[in-house]
Order: sequence, then structure tokens, then C-alpha cells
Amino acid sequence: MHSLSKDFKDELSTKANASLQRHYKNLDDEARNIEHDPPSAVMLAPFTAHLQSSNRIFVLIGAGLSASSGIPTYRSAGGFWRTFSDQQLEKKSAFEEDAIMVWQFYNYRRQQAKAALPNPAIMRLRNLRAGHPAGKMIDLHGSLFRVKCFDDTCGYGEENHDIPIIPQLSVTEPPGVLDSADSKSVQSGVSIEDLPHCPKCKVNLLRPATVWFGESLPEAKVHQVHEWLRSGNSDVSAGANDAIEDEKVDLMLVIGTSAVVWPAAGYIGRARKAGARVAFFNMEENSAGVARPEESDWIFLGDAAELVAKAFEGFLGGVND
Ligand SMILES: [Zn+2]
Repeated sequence: MHSLSKDFKDELSTKANASLQRHYKNLDDEARNIEHDPPSAVMLAPFTAHLQSSNRIFVLIGAGLSASSGIPTYRSAGGFWRTFSDQQLEKKSAFEEDAIMVWQFYNYRRQQAKAALPNPAIMRLRNLRAGHPAGKMIDLHGSLFRVKCFDDTCGYGEENHDIPIIPQLSVTEPPGVLDSADSKSVQSGVSIEDLPHCPKCKVNLLRPATVWFGESLPEAKVHQVHEWLRSGNSDVSAGANDAIEDEKVDLMLVIGTSAVVWPAAGYIGRARKAGARVAFFNMEENSAGVARPEESDWIFLGDAAELVAKAFEGFLGGVND
């Protein structure tokens, strides 16, 4: 028996990735081909009335809201970067193996995010927040525009909006290279020394301060969300139904996320306990566990950004620009 040559293995892996991409593309096409009627005025009226009378609203936003601003999720067809999905690149081991490639990926994502224009739904949600105290928006999964030391014990972190983050990464990558087999960073002419280093310990590389696969969500942020929901949750009080009226959660909006991953999934249950009615805006109906809709929920299926824009029409009036 011959052992497989490296080239042949590489070829196999490229083929496997290509086949995976085709699989996702089919799923995506299927999802896109399902025509969802836009919600009718009759459907929207009770939602708008409830929205109008709500004081405390919990909004859970996923990547689906940004999709129509042209920011892919890297989880499905057309969303692959080179031959990789987010699950292959957004993890510690990928950074340890090829930090240059992971930084190329994030450099590209940062460029995309910077260039994207907020869609009407995002603008309406911003209006919803207007006049509310700052700091109530919590990025559970971190930010593309924060970096931190690769070594958590060093603790260094900073905001960074430099595009490109280093001059050597300045090449804008057209989406057309997604199916390219040239997936190795070696060809880029970038060396490890060029990558951003931690100014505090001066030893480690800086990495994107986003939560990667296999990592926990930041405890303080999770706690903050729990506390906010708990304040409206009658279960923590002496008896049932004695939640302070002011702290009850009136409405939860689940936007552009399947919310099947914890702790996000758990928030739906907690919000319900705190009195919230739940409205889903997503491509497909949530079906798993606590994310499963109940009879009193509103379910709006289709492009999350279009749906939110439509559903908020009666609430805030038109967006001017
Ligand atoms: Zn450091």
C-alpha cells in the first residue's frame, strides 16, 4: 500500500471542502426559495400596539440582521472565506497554527464591516434605543473592532479601527477567491513579525477580541444580561406574580438568530418568565427547545432586516435616509 502523498491529501481536503460548500449552497438556495409573504397590516397591528405600550424591551440580535447589509456569516455558501468556514478559522487552534491566515480573514471581515451601510432595520432599532442609557447594548460575542493579547493572563485589550490593521494586510480580497484552493497564508508575503503584537507583554500577538468556538462568553456581560432579566422575573421574589410592574419585561425581539445556542436560547425562557411576549424575525421558524415559539408569540418569517423595517413602520414612522 502506498501512503497518501501530501498533495493528494490536500486535494482530497479541497474536494471535501468544495463538497461541503455545495451542500450548504443547496440548503441556502432552498431557504431562499421559500417565499414568505410579507406580514400583513392585520398581522402587524397587534404587534405594533404591544410594541407601542412596552416599557422594557429585550432585543436579541444575531448575524441574520446584518446579512442584508452584505456582511456574510461565513457559515454557508457564498459565506465561505477562501475554502474555510467560520468554524474552521474562529478558534484558538487555528490562530496557533496559522495566525497570519486568521488575521487575513479578520482583516477582510473588518473591511467588509466598515464598508457596510446600516440597513433600515438597524436604523429603526437605533431609534428604539434613542434616549435610553448607554451601556445597555451588550456585544456578547465581542467586537470586530477590539483586539486583545492572545494570552488571557496578560489581560491587554484595546479598541482598534485601523483598516488595514497592518499595512502588509492592505490587499482587499474580492469575494471571488472564496472557492480558491490557494488557502495558505504563505503566499501573502506577510510574516508573523508583521502581525500586531501586544504592547504590554511584548511577547504575544494581538488577536481579535471576539468569542471564538470553544471559548466562553465573557462572564461579566452574561451576568449583566441575567441581572437585567432577573429584575423583572417574579420567580426570584418571595411569591409568584409579584414582579415589580416597572421591571417586568414587556417584549422580547429575537432577530436574525435561530437562538438555539446557550445562553441566548435561555434568554427566551427567562424573558417569558419576566412577563415578555416574544416576537421572532428570522428566515426560518425556530424549532428547538426553549427557542420554540409559543402560541402567544409573533412569528415573522423572511429576511430579518426587511421584516423588522416593516414591523416598525407603524411605530416610528419612516426613516429619512
Ligand atoms: Zn500581552
